[in-house]
Amino acid sequence: MTESQVATSTTFVYSFGEGRADGNAKMRDLLGGKGAGLAEMSNAGVPVPAGFTITTEVCRHYYAHGRTLPEGFADQQHAALETLQKIMGKRLGDARDPLLVSVRSGAKYSMPGMMDTVLNLGLNDRSAEGLMARSGDARFALDCYRRFIQMFGSVVLGLEKRTFEEHLHAVKKKKRIVSDVELGRADLEALVRDFKALVRRHAGRDFPQDPLEQLAMARDAVFRSWNNERAVYYRRQNGIPDDIGTAVNVQAMVFGNLGPTSGTGVGFTRNPATGERQFYGEYLVNAQGEDVVAGVRTPEPISALEARMPDVYRQLRDITSRLEQHYRDVQDFEFTVQERRLFLLQTRTGKRTAQAAVKIAVDMANERLITRDEAVMRVEPASLDQLLHPRIDPKAKLEVLAQGLAASPGAATGRVVFDADHAAERGEREKVILVRKETTPDDIHGMDAAQGILTSTGGLTSHAAVVARGMGKPCVCGATQVVVDDKRRCFTADGVTIEEDDWITIDGGSGRVLRGQAPTLEAEVSGEFATFMGWADAVRRLKVRANADIPRDATKAREFGAEGIGLCRTEHMFFVEERLPHVVEMIMTAPRVKALEAKAAALERQRKGASPAEARALGAELKRVKAELAEPARRYRGALAKLLPFQRADFRGLFKAMDGHAVTIRTLDPPLHEFLPKREDLMAQVAVLNADWERARKRSKKAPKPARLGRLEKLLHRVEELHEFNPMLGHRGCRLGISYPEITAMQARAIFEAACDAAERGARAVPEIMIPLVGHVNELKDQAAVVRRVADEVMARRGTKVEYLVGTMIEVPRAAVTAASIAGEAEFFSFGTNDLTQMGFGFSRDDAGKFLGEYVARKILLNDPFVSIDEAGIGRLMEWAVKEGRGARPGLKIGICGEHGGDPASVEFCHRAGLDYVSCSPFRVPIARLAAAQAALRGTAAGSDQR
Ligand code: PEP
Ligand code: MG
Repeated sequence: MTESQVATSTTFVYSFGEGRADGNAKMRDLLGGKGAGLAEMSNAGVPVPAGFTITTEVCRHYYAHGRTLPEGFADQQHAALETLQKIMGKRLGDARDPLLVSVRSGAKYSMPGMMDTVLNLGLNDRSAEGLMARSGDARFALDCYRRFIQMFGSVVLGLEKRTFEEHLHAVKKKKRIVSDVELGRADLEALVRDFKALVRRHAGRDFPQDPLEQLAMARDAVFRSWNNERAVYYRRQNGIPDDIGTAVNVQAMVFGNLGPTSGTGVGFTRNPATGERQFYGEYLVNAQGEDVVAGVRTPEPISALEARMPDVYRQLRDITSRLEQHYRDVQDFEFTVQERRLFLLQTRTGKRTAQAAVKIAVDMANERLITRDEAVMRVEPASLDQLLHPRIDPKAKLEVLAQGLAASPGAATGRVVFDADHAAERGEREKVILVRKETTPDDIHGMDAAQGILTSTGGLTSHAAVVARGMGKPCVCGATQVVVDDKRRCFTADGVTIEEDDWITIDGGSGRVLRGQAPTLEAEVSGEFATFMGWADAVRRLKVRANADIPRDATKAREFGAEGIGLCRTEHMFFVEERLPHVVEMIMTAPRVKALEAKAAALERQRKGASPAEARALGAELKRVKAELAEPARRYRGALAKLLPFQRADFRGLFKAMDGHAVTIRTLDPPLHEFLPKREDLMAQVAVLNADWERARKRSKKAPKPARLGRLEKLLHRVEELHEFNPMLGHRGCRLGISYPEITAMQARAIFEAACDAAERGARAVPEIMIPLVGHVNELKDQAAVVRRVADEVMARRGTKVEYLVGTMIEVPRAAVTAASIAGEAEFFSFGTNDLTQMGFGFSRDDAGKFLGEYVARKILLNDPFVSIDEAGIGRLMEWAVKEGRGARPGLKIGICGEHGGDPASVEFCHRAGLDYVSCSPFRVPIARLAAAQAALRGTAAGSDQR
């Protein structure tokens, strides 16, 4: 069932507090998060300004039926408006005491700042007079009116925001004033006139005076904003469906700008950056709500409210802590104080950093507000990444440029850029920090591409802070010493000028802005994090291993809780500088050895049935071939003998780091040309050396050919021999081991000698030898025989027994399809979903980037299949292989070691498919542990856990 259902119910408009009987989940679908929250708060007796919600169903109808509204809607809106006017004792457009309303979006899933809002609706020339009379404050009323025209003009009538801003700026400049508050009555009257004229000029119509027309237009503008560019982008980034639509909330306005006993604020019931159990928020005296959220003025801490109006502060604390108990989660709330009267405008589940999420989950479980299982479900697995990021080395000498607010943790270093387009463009190639006075929703693509974000204004709930936390990016905001000069493309702080392109570091954990590239330290995994992960481990069924090739990574993986190595790509060990010459020697000599060996074998065979004279001739030929073989065979064996101790030492290190946990070691996989220099580079070098030699010969005919030229020519020849049209489908994986069994044997020897070393030391080593790219069981048989022969030989020689398994990657579709026969030979399976996706889809791993972005943007595919397992296709192959494999070999151990092993959605799939373990990069191990726990809890909740 999709989330979108065409209008089926007959109630399109709910006054706050109505419709409780329908149940919460359904009400969220219909009323959106904000509308449902307002309804629930009204029901709970929280002081919420009255209003009504137009359902998401109306929005869906609006889009499905050529931007029209459902039948019967108009009457319902009229009735709800009547009720609202009755409750508030005021009427829209009234000339004596007018009702003003806000018109806001509110989808089922929070999309902060992405859609449109209109405030002060209902003002016109008459009601502005009424507001003046009622409040006794002409300045205030006129200020509301000009704000309304400004907002309505840009949001509803589509005028550029800067049309108004530039005019306002020009007026202030002329009057030599800095702040809006200094505008006098006459200035505001003139502004209202000017703004109306701007509307007439740019929109080609008069500013609407009829409040009901204003309401209809604003409502439709909010519906339209569901599909504005940034909302669509945000939904794509956050996996929110496009077809669920937004609700519209129409609510009586209350005013925070009625003087010193009024104000507005936002807050959290706990600190959203650290998770500390501390009432946390910001307050702006004599201001409207959007001043805080937009980060235009830097607000004071909430204690300012406590100092000014302790009774209001107490009431706020009391209500919000009740809300936290009621919703059993941190609340992010907005409030307004109108002449000492408190109104809660909104409450929702508070977004938080990963660090805060873990702390809050652990604290709430300890406070018995939620269960441990609920705590485990409260943290987004992917967000743990933030906790595992580096922080600035506390011992490092730092040049602090400025101190801002610690808005989103982690240290980020990059070159300074001053606008989002630049950040988006350059962020693909290099590390950049986006530096802005404040960010707006239009900057989101630049924020996405930057390493971190720095703003000079705005609080912890400003746009920059909220979005950065959501993205898991380091962010420092409200660094007031930072003076950004967009025109000159530089900023100054504390007398220092930082130009575009200069390096800075920001520390989102402390709020510091540092000059240059500061040294960083790795994250630690202890305290609440360890407690939390312990709870996750207690419920998960899937084991989590790591992909690690070197002992340092293996040790890190253990720290992060890996229960073994699921993939050691041995070829990575070959790329080390001191080993590469031996690898090259091995590659250069191997084919000659193979060719001569084959020739010798053929001669031996011919000799057997030959006449004595022929046999003599063949014998002589055989001798010659053997003599020719001696040199390359010596070099080939020599290269392998040189590589053996390196590999043995590597495996020893891995076994030690894994301390008795299984270590899956894969035999050589990539095509051999990857170890040799590039053909084009070699050709260029050969050409240069040839030209030099040519010149030398012109001087002296006898000039010898340089030895280096000879070597490079041979190398080039070999590179050309190795050239393949489709290297990923070419001579790689087990096909190499089949051609050159000595390489497999050398690797097996290194593994078993290292395992015997461990066993003889009294330690445990559990090697699982994995053969790559098997498509036919006979390929596996061939390679498994080599491994087992060497294992027997080494163990017999050492007199030591080592437990081991020989298994295979399942990464060729044919292997998945013939899993039953492959399981006859394999003692374990590990899905190589990178290659399985490549070959299953027919998408080249190295080239698919060119079109997959477009595929996802156009929804041809919902996700990049190299990131999240394509369950309907590749997943089916996996499920089949699991079923067939275990059918042939009950209890067959099955894991996954493709990149998908660290992707939460894919981990969940692996849980459902009944795998034994997932394996991923060390930094993703905690993410996979948590994703596995959540999969188990979801499975339990749905009653569908199969194992
Ligand atoms: C795979 O194909 O998924 C895999 C793990 O192997 P590699 O990425 O090394 O080809
Ligand atoms: Mg592979």
